[in-house]
Amino acid sequence: MTLDQHDDDTSEDVDNWIKIYKDYLQFRIIPANNNEARVLRMKASRFTIIDGELFKKSSTGLLQRCLKRHEAGMVLRDAHEGECENHTNGRNLSLKILCLGYYWTTLRQDALDYAKKCDACQRHAPVIHQPFEHLHMSIPSWPFMMGNGHYGKNAINTRIVGVHVGHE
Ligand SMILES: [Zn+2]
Repeated sequence: MTLDQHDDDTSEDVDNWIKIYKDYLQFRIIPANNNEARVLRMKASRFTIIDGELFKKSSTGLLQRCLKRHEAGMVLRDAHEGECENHTNGRNLSLKILCLGYYWTTLRQDALDYAKKCDACQRHAPVIHQPFEHLHMSIPSWPFMMGNGHYGKNAINTRIVGVHVGHE
């Protein structure tokens, strides 16, 4: 398993990426594969360990605690349906969780999936009234209109005859 594969991993050892970083930061244990070791050294510079917990350093300097799978599920639920029950969309949900100081490798995709599967979001999503395609201009046809904008003589006669016959 490579470090890059952790992002898409859904197997039971999904939390193994935390152990890999901690092993490197604490004991300088690196993968046997040279390329994987190089990637780990590069990525590990953005992580640190505080009181035995792994933290990621965000670009703004905020420390984000690295969560295991079961913790991530609780944070997702709380951030999406918690106190404010604001049911934010997937992208904003992942940003909100990062701002709250949490991180895990599949955060972004998990947030998108969570918002997509949320029952309340599906029921109360805004209804889009716009058509699915551009409107087409329709050209009205005026069967009795002549080229100069006046009704034709035959058209008027036909209408008069129609009324006359109707009253006999
Ligand atoms: Zn929702």
